[in-house]
Amino acid sequence: MTTSTAGKPRLGATGAMGTVIKVSSVTKRYGPVVAVDRVDVSVAAGEIYALLGLNGAGKTTLIRMLLGMVRPTEGQVSLWGTPVSARQRAVWARVGYLVETPAAYPELSVRENLRLVARLRHLPDSAPVDEVIDRLGLREYAHRRARTLSLGNAQRLGLAKALLHRPPLLILDEPANGLDPAGVVEIRDLLLGLAEAGTTVFVSSHVLAEVARLATRIGIIHNGRLVRQLDTDDLAGWARPSLRVSTRDLASATDVLRRAGFHPTADGDGLTLPDEQAVAAPDEVATVLVAAGCPPTHLTVAREDLETYFLRTVGGLDGGNG
Ligand code: ATP
Repeated sequence: MTTSTAGKPRLGATGAMGTVIKVSSVTKRYGPVVAVDRVDVSVAAGEIYALLGLNGAGKTTLIRMLLGMVRPTEGQVSLWGTPVSARQRAVWARVGYLVETPAAYPELSVRENLRLVARLRHLPDSAPVDEVIDRLGLREYAHRRARTLSLGNAQRLGLAKALLHRPPLLILDEPANGLDPAGVVEIRDLLLGLAEAGTTVFVSSHVLAEVARLATRIGIIHNGRLVRQLDTDDLAGWARPSLRVSTRDLASATDVLRRAGFHPTADGDGLTLPDEQAVAAPDEVATVLVAAGCPPTHLTVAREDLETYFLRTVGGLDGGNG
């Protein structure tokens, strides 16, 4: 498979090419369990939207509702302005999807599976079966029975089936599932290339670092609720900076800085100051510490990593201050 150097497509939520996915106030209840809770999402043509959440957050349920596999308890989902229903054949011809572990006919080969999908989709004989096999890096497995494939290659076959009819919309539940690190990069490049050519992509994931590299927009879902949406370009701005201070006497330094109005927390070998003033003027912090007789040995402004940002976002909400 060739590696694309495609960058992320740059289209806002209300991109000029119109809305492809519209989720309006959608709730799904299973008895007492609220799997998806009043979610609103709008995805524009050409965007790569990633739904990010921990296990059980509600990602698969929302994706199943996008695909008409699960009926919302309340609210509505539409694709290109048409409400989703299992009978909308014209709409389904324009969607490629992958949900959880993709099913294949176990005794048929990779190529036979794809030919069968082509026939079921009423594609012409010229359907690009071999092209898709190549794109997904499955050439050396084309003759292998599906039941003998590794999880990663079964996932590639699932993606191949989703791409076969060149749909303008891809809806993929955890597409990186089971892939090794090189496979993750290949699939990311593939999706970036497709998006650059105009395909709209909706993916779910629980790996923030991965979606940050792939998506144009991220929606964080937690306990069924869409708790935050952000442009990935803004992610660096969202992640909170802090000042890290190393000093030989952490206890005294903590005391001194508290008295000076800062909010240090000690961990292991240093202190973290989340205060804006500390980040803006580390020299002031240094002066306070030197004057009190516990000079800093090291000062750095640190941005928390993406995973910490994500956990703080959902953790803060669990704490009731979201
Ligand atoms: P994972 O990453 O583990 O797949 P997820 O974010 O996809 O998680 P969902 O599978 O959508 O989460 O599940 C959301 C919640 O709804 C969970 O509490 C789950 O147990 C519950 N749930 C999902 N499907 C059903 C069902 N058919 N019956 C009852 N509860 C369900």
